[in-house]
Amino acid sequence: MSQPAPTLPPALLAHQLADAPRYRDDAAGKPGAAPLAVLAPRSAQDAAAILRALQSAGLAAVVQGGRTGLSGGARVQPGEVVLSTERLTAPPVVDPVAATMTLGAGVPLETAQQAARDHGLYLAADLGARGSATVGGMAATNAGGPLALRYGTFRQQVLGLEAVLPDGTIVSRLGGLAKDNSGLDLSQYLIGSEGVLGLITRLVLRLHPAPTARRVAVCALEGAAQALALLPVLRAGLGPLLQACELIIDPLLSETCARRGLRYPFATPAAAVLLVEVAGPDPAADAARLETVLGAALETGQIADAVLSASEADCLRLWALRDGCSHYLIENAGPLTSLDLSLPLPAIPAFLDQAAALCAGRARPYVFGHLGDGNLHYILACPPDDALTTQVFALTARHGGVITAEHGIGLDKVRWLPLCRDAAEIAAMARIKGAIDPGFILNPGRIFGTPA
Ligand SMILES: Cc1cc2nc3c(=O)[nH]c(=O)nc-3n(C[C@H](O)[C@H](O)[C@H](O)COP(=O)(O)OP(=O)(O)OC[C@H]3O[C@@H](n4cnc5c(N)ncnc54)[C@H](O)[C@@H]3O)c2cc1C
Repeated sequence: MSQPAPTLPPALLAHQLADAPRYRDDAAGKPGAAPLAVLAPRSAQDAAAILRALQSAGLAAVVQGGRTGLSGGARVQPGEVVLSTERLTAPPVVDPVAATMTLGAGVPLETAQQAARDHGLYLAADLGARGSATVGGMAATNAGGPLALRYGTFRQQVLGLEAVLPDGTIVSRLGGLAKDNSGLDLSQYLIGSEGVLGLITRLVLRLHPAPTARRVAVCALEGAAQALALLPVLRAGLGPLLQACELIIDPLLSETCARRGLRYPFATPAAAVLLVEVAGPDPAADAARLETVLGAALETGQIADAVLSASEADCLRLWALRDGCSHYLIENAGPLTSLDLSLPLPAIPAFLDQAAALCAGRARPYVFGHLGDGNLHYILACPPDDALTTQVFALTARHGGVITAEHGIGLDKVRWLPLCRDAAEIAAMARIKGAIDPGFILNPGRIFGTPA
């Protein structure tokens, strides 16, 4: 006999949004279930009342920010209520003296970036989904992106936050203190917790001096090993000006240019292309430094060719090559399994050779990523093949890497977590979850699955 569908406590109807298909899944591309309801609190107090009512009714909830996540963390499972942060949009308040910004968790990254720029400051976080990804979601996933090379991941940008724990307790560290060693830092537990420990409602973010101008170059290289050899040269020559270092392995860029009508930057296709960005306080001196460093690398044969931006429009054109790769893969490359690997830098060339051998005759691998951080987006172009995914993840682990650098475990990688975290670590994570959410009502099944 089928169970009657659970019903929503009437007290929660005031927070309800009309259900729509967009609330069912994230950007990982797998279908989610219809949620029991979509609830959108306007404050931490609302969220606390909602979570207490869900506890009493024995209902589970999944938190959703901008639903741009790539690991299924925000995808709805049968019987779940959606807790959307789309009304938690308290606008950014910038403190120019402290160089901080306080804002609601549902504010999109792009809005926060603009608010910082309006005050002559800089929010040092960026990613392709900036128009939709929320600052709360970025904290919950500890998002990376190209700027992590210079400024660290989103964890480093968060000075404190307010959150509601699954039992309705509100915890708040919004003082914006640069130094605070007064006990356990609960904000740091919540960052990267993918919503399993609480709903983040507000944040205080660290801001940086705004760079005056940037320059971008793309370099043609013989392969990943040559790109790695160039890294210390770039670090030594450019110092803190080095802002991004993005690798694209052929044929991804050639195919992207051909299919998306972009101009390939070199006369002949390069085995690997490295996009380098510098940004600093002195446009002329910073540009000259980049030219000197790349000029020397050309002379010594460390790079085969290079194209440098001469204007902000050029920078945008060169970045469009890199961003175009993601769009090409999503829109034109057929069925894909997108792996987001973190590897020790020296292991990357051997990993690439061995992974290509695993893929031979089974999948077409496309590779790009944030090279400076050892973060490779390794894309398997083939129908879903869990056996191959397992082999590539196991190879990553054998090289001392982990199965996700940025996107998190969510629902989609739970079964592979033991490849890179040992049983004691996973048990300790689950004990923390169990202490804070004994009923497993918030984001159940994410990261460590559901206890038997
Ligand atoms: C085109 C594109 C490019 C991308 N590039 C990058 C990149 O360079 N680097 C990178 O790291 N990621 C990247 N991503 C992935 C994604 O944008 C990030 O994971 C982002 O941080 C997710 O934010 P969101 O608001 O969309 O969160 P969602 O997708 O809504 O949720 C993600 C997870 O966080 C939880 N969550 C969301 N909000 C909260 C909250 N307020 N409190 C508690 N838990 C919450 C959800 O339950 C879920 O588990 C990209 C995605 C796309 C589509």
